[in-house]
Amino acid sequence: MLELSNSVLAALAHNPGNEGCSAVLELLLEASASRLGYFGRLEDDGVLVCAVGGVDARPAGGRLARIPGREWPAIWRSCLEQGEPVCANSVSVPAPSVPVTLRRALVVPVCDGADRRGLLCLANRENPYSAAELRRIAAAVQCLGPVLSAWCDQERAEARRRDLERRLKLTQFAIDHSPGVVLTLDPSGRIVYANKTACRTLGYRAEELTRKNIRELLEDGSRRCWERFRDELSKPAALECEARFRTSAGSPIPFSVLAGRLEFDGLELIALVCRDISDYVAAREELLQALEKEREATRLKSEFLANVNHELRTPLNAIIGMTELLLESPLSGEQREYVETVHRASHDLLEMIEDILDLEKVEAGKLELRPETFDPQKLVDNVAGLFAKSAREKGIEIAVACDPALPPSLVGDSSRIRQVLVNLVSNAVKFTPSGHVTIRAECLGWRDSRAQIRFAVEDSGIGIPGDKREMIFERFSQVDGSPTRSHEGVGLGLAIVKDLVELMGGELGVDSEVGRGSTFWLTLWLPAAAERSLGPAEPAAAEPAPGGGRRWDHAPRVLVAEDDAVNRKVAVRLLERLGCVVDAVADGRQAAELAAERDYDLVFMDCEMPVMDGCQAARRIRREPGPKSQVPIIAMTARVMKGDIEACLAAGMDDYVRKPVHLRDFRVVLEKWVRRETGLCAVPGIGHPGQTGPRSCGEDSGAG
Ligand code: ADP
Repeated sequence: MLELSNSVLAALAHNPGNEGCSAVLELLLEASASRLGYFGRLEDDGVLVCAVGGVDARPAGGRLARIPGREWPAIWRSCLEQGEPVCANSVSVPAPSVPVTLRRALVVPVCDGADRRGLLCLANRENPYSAAELRRIAAAVQCLGPVLSAWCDQERAEARRRDLERRLKLTQFAIDHSPGVVLTLDPSGRIVYANKTACRTLGYRAEELTRKNIRELLEDGSRRCWERFRDELSKPAALECEARFRTSAGSPIPFSVLAGRLEFDGLELIALVCRDISDYVAAREELLQALEKEREATRLKSEFLANVNHELRTPLNAIIGMTELLLESPLSGEQREYVETVHRASHDLLEMIEDILDLEKVEAGKLELRPETFDPQKLVDNVAGLFAKSAREKGIEIAVACDPALPPSLVGDSSRIRQVLVNLVSNAVKFTPSGHVTIRAECLGWRDSRAQIRFAVEDSGIGIPGDKREMIFERFSQVDGSPTRSHEGVGLGLAIVKDLVELMGGELGVDSEVGRGSTFWLTLWLPAAAERSLGPAEPAAAEPAPGGGRRWDHAPRVLVAEDDAVNRKVAVRLLERLGCVVDAVADGRQAAELAAERDYDLVFMDCEMPVMDGCQAARRIRREPGPKSQVPIIAMTARVMKGDIEACLAAGMDDYVRKPVHLRDFRVVLEKWVRRETGLCAVPGIGHPGQTGPRSCGEDSGAG
């Protein structure tokens, strides 16, 4: 028995693997005089991988078979289930894998401890198998369990190795042929692996690349990128950055680089996966250049417009000022008519310049809203007042209808709302040959202490055809654009109205019927003010009595600094008309020197002057010791863009007037600043700097 065991072990030891199984089987077939035999190991998936041998198995036998569980004869299954050898001398079932019948059989499980590792079946001997034989064979194969176990493990490891190898080859193929450059580096930056794309893209052979350090490939500006990778790679997430690599020919290629750290058996590696982003970078640069060009063009346009505005306002200042002075002097009826025409035309021209400037400001995002507390009813009354005279002259009735529920005091940029209403009412009067124009204001509802206010300007005029109602809000568009049209205008007013309403977050619309009239309306959400606004939201609309100087208790002493001789003369004359004692100088230095010498109630300072500009002069006055440094300084400027006003205020000026300066602008400033300073009779709501922010006193000149 021991002999058989030894022979079996020796057979298996000398013939590893499947060969061993065949050798063992041959030996046992012979020792038991069986005609058919199976011996092999059980796979994890329940398949018996076995040698098939014996006379009955030929010619098909002598080979390796894979016999799945479902093909097993019942005695195999019960043998393995019980873990006990089975002897069956009268069965008749088909033998697995070979075309014979299994008539008598001896089945022995091969175990390693409790684990079933394989199976031996000897069958179809002439004589029945005896119990003694079964024991002998079982004892002989007993020792094979651990061998089959080891063999199974080896097979498994082999299968795993083959699987890994397959996957590795696939991965290698994918990496080599990936469109991205893949580099593996050691922690010093030395390249240990480069894929085929890396070689092709960078123009090196693999062995050349693996001799290099990544720093030699990176462009100067991109070395930082490598340092960042090296320093930050201890963090778990992969890092990404943009870097430029140099090819062997010296040309730079921009890459998007993804870096990750790999640790392997104590070996640290850094993997870089790099995507060529030349196209993207080129497109980005093109876009940036285009943007830069556009920005430059916008800047030049703004600058051009600011310059044109300045250049136009300066002579207009003289024309309007001189005509105002002329209108104050004794004139014949015909002369007065001529001068009034010049005056009106210069106002129209000024209005157009302001419209263009406003549009430009909105477009350049430079128009800022200045919310303040205002009384909506007063605002509407004020706008109606502006047009009372022109409507009366045309025979049109102008009316105001305010909702009793209208809040007495709201917060919003009343000056811009007023500008919108002035534009709408001016159109209504212009396009209404007879009948009425009504300005309505109502409160539509409340949400979170904000009121929805609807302003509407209703007229009984010519109306607007349906297909033109959209287009009139575009720049330079009019219903009748023909040169023979009967109404003046350039088609900018409604474009500004639209921009302003949108800037205030409101809605604008028009309802109209040709021949019956139009209603332009806007809705705005405005917060209710905690307190009632004190005075008129805007300077009084009523036209001042010509030349009607205030009666000051002493004549205000005013210094005017203006380099343009005509404008200087106009300013002096207008201020004298208002009862002031005026000194005038032509540059900032003279202004600063005079302000240091004499006591003034007010200084009007032109901004752009030779020798010393207005801002420098203001700073110098503010540095004077004593009360002279406190004199209110009012900038006179044709430049009214945001930055210009801010520069004046930053230089220590208190307020500004927009050129051309009208008689009433000077009056408003005098009332605001001289009264306050002398404390003669403070009028509530006017001129508390800081309360509402400085406001151009010239801004109410647009009523035309
Ligand atoms: P402008 O009045 O300078 O032409 P606007 O932009 O203010 O420019 O108006 C554009 C056009 O819209 C006007 O030319 C006119 O055809 C039409 N329009 C505006 N308001 C009215 C109105 N109340 N009634 C009839 N047509 C109007």
